[in-house]
Amino acid sequence: MSDSKKRIGLLGATGSIGTSCLEVVRAHSESMSIDLLSAHSSWRELARSAAEFLPQTVVLTGVQASDVAANAFPSSVEVLYGEEALLKAVEVPEIETVITGIVGAAGLRGTLAAVEAGKRIGLANKETLVVAGSLVTQKAVETGSVLIPVDSEHSAIFQALACGKREDVSKLILTASGGPFRSWSAEKIAQATVANALDHPTWDMGPKITIDSATMMNKALEVIEARWLFGINARQIEVVVHPQSIVHSMVEFVDGSVMAQLSPPDMKLPIQYAITWPDRIAGTSPKLDISQTFSLDFEPPDLERFPALALGFEVADQGGTAGVVLNAANEVAVDRFLQDQLTFPEIPRLCRSILASHQFESNPTLDELLTLDGWARQEALRWTSSTSHSSPS
Ligand code: NAD
Ligand code: MG
Repeated sequence: MSDSKKRIGLLGATGSIGTSCLEVVRAHSESMSIDLLSAHSSWRELARSAAEFLPQTVVLTGVQASDVAANAFPSSVEVLYGEEALLKAVEVPEIETVITGIVGAAGLRGTLAAVEAGKRIGLANKETLVVAGSLVTQKAVETGSVLIPVDSEHSAIFQALACGKREDVSKLILTASGGPFRSWSAEKIAQATVANALDHPTWDMGPKITIDSATMMNKALEVIEARWLFGINARQIEVVVHPQSIVHSMVEFVDGSVMAQLSPPDMKLPIQYAITWPDRIAGTSPKLDISQTFSLDFEPPDLERFPALALGFEVADQGGTAGVVLNAANEVAVDRFLQDQLTFPEIPRLCRSILASHQFESNPTLDELLTLDGWARQEALRWTSSTSHSSPS
């Protein structure tokens, strides 16, 4: 490893990924430092982290200066407001790696700005690739920006791919925990409450991705993410349910060898690896205890009980505008479900309905994608307020 510190910009510093990233930096203060922190509205929490890590700059994208107490931040820290300020702040030359821990399509512009500036990206915000995978990966090739996955499955694949040549890969196998409803009947899933869906068996994450895990939309988004990140045909991606979340994903090569990455479920490991790659350093993540008897189970996913997963394969295959529409519809559906304004099975139903009604384009521009994002959100809201869809078919 080089002598100089790895200098990090952390977007979404107050969330689940953000706080895990800060734990990684805290444990490696001799080799890592924070130049930039962002949050949407939780300024008190951001101020606490700013006092500890003393970044050059913090950005609050969802509040104004008048919402924030005077002297909340240390005087050495520049405090900026709004998304445009964030886009400028990620570009500063001192920052080497940008960790993208913002949730949803709201993370797209910050990630893209960092890609345009040629940064190393520790990509947690999978929605960026779901919405604009083609544009973002092309831009990364142009600028030399390296996209290192933080999503644990994609980090596993990224690591396993190092065992062979790209042209010798036959399949990417994404593991899925199966979420809290893995063993529930369709009838019981239909009655699932918000509290049931937020009760994830293996991972402690933000609310949006936790609901996505319960519907398995998270795995759908990850199929699309893998398609763009690794430039692979959607038909060469498979999903297998693995309830222990220890095998984080696998790569099958043409000779039939399957390479897997294993570790206890803990996001600090892929975050740290995104920062130190291609080096590895000792960290604080728990290690696998192989002194005790344990077993690893695998089972095929059930597309009937989890129809969201099928949408992921369809959208990954279609490309074009399908991803932005699926993502926007899902963001609205999850939000409405969390507000008790939609039932659990209506989440994938809404997404399929909005996807079916959109005007597909194969090569959209960024502006077209952003316009469609707005359109799909409006349509999804309209869908939730109409009652005709809720009659059983
Ligand atoms: P979270 O809800 O815990 O945190 C979200 C962060 O984004 C917060 O800091 C919040 O202030 C900020 N934010 C929210 N809305 C914003 C907006 N409109 N503009 C700017 N900033 C905004 O989310 P999370 O669970 O940490 O997930 C973050 C991303 O990482 C998601 O894309 C998720 O899919 C991905 N991811 C998370 C995990 C995990 O373990 N949590 C694992 C894999 C991938
Ligand atoms: Mg994941």
